[in-house]
Amino acid sequence: MRLAPSPTGTLHIGTARTAVFNWLFARHNNGQFLLRVEDTDKERSKPEYTANILEGLQWLGLEWDGVPVIQSERVALHRAAIQQLLDSGHAYRCYASEAELTAMREQQAASKRAPRYDNRHRDLSPDREQAFIAEGREAVIRFRIDDGRTITWTDLVRGTMRWSGGDLGGDMVIARRAPADQIGDPLYNLVVVVDDAAMAISHVIRGEDHIANTAKQLLLYEALGAEPPVFAHTPLILNKDGKKLSKRDGVTSISDFRAMGYTAPALANYMTLLGWSPPEGMGERFSLDEAAAVFGFERVNKAGARFDWDKLNWLNGQVLREQGAESLREQLLPLWAAQGWAVTAQPAGTTVSNPVHADPAWQLELIALLAPSLTLLAEGVEQATPFFTTPALNEAAQTQLAAEGARPALAALAAALEARDPDTPLDGDQAQALLGEVASGAGVKKGVIMKSLRAALLGSLQGPDLLSTWLLLMRSGEALPRIQACL
Ligand code: GLU
Repeated sequence: MRLAPSPTGTLHIGTARTAVFNWLFARHNNGQFLLRVEDTDKERSKPEYTANILEGLQWLGLEWDGVPVIQSERVALHRAAIQQLLDSGHAYRCYASEAELTAMREQQAASKRAPRYDNRHRDLSPDREQAFIAEGREAVIRFRIDDGRTITWTDLVRGTMRWSGGDLGGDMVIARRAPADQIGDPLYNLVVVVDDAAMAISHVIRGEDHIANTAKQLLLYEALGAEPPVFAHTPLILNKDGKKLSKRDGVTSISDFRAMGYTAPALANYMTLLGWSPPEGMGERFSLDEAAAVFGFERVNKAGARFDWDKLNWLNGQVLREQGAESLREQLLPLWAAQGWAVTAQPAGTTVSNPVHADPAWQLELIALLAPSLTLLAEGVEQATPFFTTPALNEAAQTQLAAEGARPALAALAAALEARDPDTPLDGDQAQALLGEVASGAGVKKGVIMKSLRAALLGSLQGPDLLSTWLLLMRSGEALPRIQACL
């Protein structure tokens, strides 16, 4: 198995998903997962993209075996293979100029034919070839593809595949234009076959956009006398409109997902689900190792896989919660501190607005309260805000506080709280009972006092469990002042 990314951009979700399937299949079969950096496009390849791709794979937990192969270092091998094809008559030089090829394609378009090379220089006589050379023409090298050939293979995802040589666009360019006594830069299909054969790749697992390349590559294996690998073409990742996911859909690169706060286990889990269905009973949340134990192509779908943000968010929330409250606290502390909140012990002599905010036990309770609804870690900042700073009342909260019975009920609650010994905090049952007493004393429904209390404490009618919110804010001494401020 191998992943063969081109470093012409950052690690794309499609490439990463291909990496996941390769990695899972390799691990399941005790095989090797190799990496080959396909950097032969000199203009578009950049070292920073290679770094981004390797780093992204490592971050996702998709460790490869051995040292990455750098394709551009193997060009002598690629040229030797081209020479072999020239010598065996499977390849030839084509001297058609760009202008001639453009004219050919325009004619094809005018007569509504599919664009293809018409193999015009396939059997040049030595005299005509000499004449072209004498003109100073340069040549590309083309590989013969006979129209009458049928290419078949058994694809691990798609079953029996059949392509007609006539549908491959005519004889294929395998080396760029160069003087006639040289071999120009070798091109993708040739290079991939030479490298996959040299690396003894047993299975090529890649996106279904490569199916036509597979047909061409099988002809190259045959001409070079090399054993072809088994192929598996994975379904495309689609956007919500059912079109191939592209840059226009916004976030598509692994580093973007990472910057948004998605965790590696959630993203790796999610990418596995993009095209693979776990066996019955496994559920949708699993680790890469758990998936590797049961992975096989019989459960990979042919149909495109629609990208589903809700599922990714759900998985990310699961992963966050699995980490446990203490780990979440450690991750949130720097984010909280960055808000200017005094959440760690301050040097002696520093005045802090509220020392409870730095109490780990209080922080853990806050996290236990917020965790069930977290999908991204950053939401643990947003949702914690009213626990560290006094919120302004939003419109819904103001409306609630203006409702009949709201203020008298809150006033009664404030009076009851003022009368209490602040050193013996209420527990949940006592707090619940107090709300009931206050409601009946004020002649309002319990719902009125609860909604009003939520409005006073959080400045909003939305938020986590009211009773726990209230207890936490009582512990930090902020409940009563907020109620009083509303009165
Ligand atoms: N460099 C090619 C790509 O990124 C590799 C395709 C393949 O796996 O053969 O699309």
